[in-house]
Amino acid sequence: MIRACVIGWPIAHSRSPLIHGHWLEKYAIQGAYEKKAVEPQHLKDFLNNLAHHGYAGCNVTIPHKEAAFHIARPDALATRLGAANTLYLRDGILHATSTDGEGFMASLKADAPGLVLVGKSALVIGAGGAARAIILALLDHGIGHIDLVNRTPERARELSRHFGNRVTPIAWDRLEQALENQSLLVNTTSLGMAGQPTLAIRLDRLPLEAAVADIVYVPLETPLLKQAALRGHPTSGGLGMLLHQAVAGFELWFGTRPQVTPELRALVEADVRKTM
Ligand code: NAP
Repeated sequence: MIRACVIGWPIAHSRSPLIHGHWLEKYAIQGAYEKKAVEPQHLKDFLNNLAHHGYAGCNVTIPHKEAAFHIARPDALATRLGAANTLYLRDGILHATSTDGEGFMASLKADAPGLVLVGKSALVIGAGGAARAIILALLDHGIGHIDLVNRTPERARELSRHFGNRVTPIAWDRLEQALENQSLLVNTTSLGMAGQPTLAIRLDRLPLEAAVADIVYVPLETPLLKQAALRGHPTSGGLGMLLHQAVAGFELWFGTRPQVTPELRALVEADVRKTM
């Protein structure tokens, strides 16, 4: 019996057990995926004894993504990000990788199959951990340029210094002007999430063929995505990223590459609706 878990503090909100539990059943794998609440001061001890606790690996979520990167052996991607969300044991060594960027790209590709990004420009709102993973994934997929807007301008400047001259920090009050000539708009902030303020933006200047992605998934369709859909933009919601980022971890622990199906999506959508 192979066991994996998701650790965070707090962890009650995590939908990862629902996703992995569905796959374990679907692929008839003798395994388990559990939630573990681990306090920050116990993280190192927990991870160093992961095998002893009976786990083949785990997902790490807030607030452990950076600390886990320092405790485990990061792969090239996690090293470039300075953070990890997926850990797995191989020959007694705990390895760390990040699947958020891959999850975002797979979801975007599924929702906007005709979208061309190579050599094009994207506008990313937000400069937190998720933005970092998405920016790196976009750069690795050949995006020509990224304009980056963040409430705290220094964080956008810091990411621009980190990723180089394909990423330009833009002031928040130039957000709507910066929509011109973009092929993709991505909200990576928590604005628009249930209980948070809405992202106040008019999309009038965004070219109609541009895709709009929002990584918030509670609600399933944020006000930003509603506005974009009304204007006829291809849209991509945060639930797709959540489902697709789980694929690589499941394969690393349980040895089967699972599929993101409409059935899985409906299951998690129903769970999200229950909390609203
Ligand atoms: P984070 O590192 O804490 O970053 C939060 C970002 O949101 C920062 O850019 C922050 O700006 C901005 N922000 C927060 N409140 C704001 C406000 N009132 N006005 C303007 N900007 C505001 O968090 P994260 O890990 O990147 O996650 C960000 C969001 O993405 C969360 O809602 C999270 O649930 C979601 N997420 C979704 C997935 C998925 O799979 N769909 C994966 C990861 C994260 P400052 O720098 O100015 O504070």
